[in-house]
Amino acid sequence: MPALAAYACDPDASLGRRYPEPAPVSRNAFQRDRDRIIHCSAFRLLEYKTQVFLNHEGDLFRTRLTHSIEVAQIARTLARNLGVHEDLIEAIALAHDLGHTPFGHAGQDELNACMRELVPEAGGFEHNLQSLRVVDELEERYASFNGLNLCFETREGILKHCSLRHARLLGDVGERFVNRTQASLEAQLANLADEIAYNNHDIDDGLRSGLITVDQLQQLEIFAVHFAQVRRRYPRAEQKRLVAEVIRAMINTLVLDLTEQTRERLRTHAPDSVDALRACPPMAAFSEPIRAQADALKKFLLDNLYRHYQVLRMMSKARRIVRDLFTEFLENPHLLASEYRRDDPTQQARAIADYIAGMTDRYAIREHEALFRMGV
Ligand code: MG
Repeated sequence: MPALAAYACDPDASLGRRYPEPAPVSRNAFQRDRDRIIHCSAFRLLEYKTQVFLNHEGDLFRTRLTHSIEVAQIARTLARNLGVHEDLIEAIALAHDLGHTPFGHAGQDELNACMRELVPEAGGFEHNLQSLRVVDELEERYASFNGLNLCFETREGILKHCSLRHARLLGDVGERFVNRTQASLEAQLANLADEIAYNNHDIDDGLRSGLITVDQLQQLEIFAVHFAQVRRRYPRAEQKRLVAEVIRAMINTLVLDLTEQTRERLRTHAPDSVDALRACPPMAAFSEPIRAQADALKKFLLDNLYRHYQVLRMMSKARRIVRDLFTEFLENPHLLASEYRRDDPTQQARAIADYIAGMTDRYAIREHEALFRMGV
């Protein structure tokens, strides 16, 4: 690995784990975190959780698992270019969606709505917080503690956003939301790698599904510029290959721009330690013109893909499934094979949310069928 910059996280200077453990022998602390994430149950479940398209709609569409791997790939490139820790950024990227519900954002929004309406005192459902909960509490792989006992730096990166109410309850990883400081550069870059990955693969999946077209995408500057370049270079290539070339070129443009802009901010603020960097304004950023183009792309995807009536139809079914399951478990606590205090509505709601959030798309569909199918 190339030399680390002064503002990089150093595994030997980690702020530590919640339960002290001896240092690993043949790996650094962040490698160990990455390895623990890859071996955990929630990571394997990502294979059957929706990104935009339901898992069974087609074998070529992204799932949360392939999405997380693409984020890790982009994040590692950024880390290497900017002298921050590749193993840490990979751990953050691979873990960032562990708390995602079945059925993508629809499932998450509905679970949040159920929590807020039916058990307002439980404080809603936030998928970022849930990812942290998976690695801090829900994984059951160690004899002497709950969760994976990851380093502070990995946990800090997983918790991208958080409400102030929850931040105050979280201790060390919540502090930055209260103090208004930033996360490490590894965490900041992993967050933007996520955005680069989903904007581009959603174009790819959207085109494959036929819900959006190349003609529509031509209204976007970032797509049109790259498409024109690629078509000039390969005038006879079939559309499938042109699209792959365009997406590759767009990812490259975004990664290079992010690297350059971040480098410039680092030059200006010159943080000489990770703590100095945490006290600076955000260091990871796109240039203004590219930020504007990326925002236009996001808006396009929202208007034309995520809100396409075929996607919305599928999502309204998904919402129905999540709400039915939540209500049923709330009314019939004996259906849930989980230990919690049934006289405490907050604990009960949290146990139900944990259970539903842990479901894959197909498991949620099957569970719904099993509970609501008429007859025996
Ligand atoms: Mg993501």
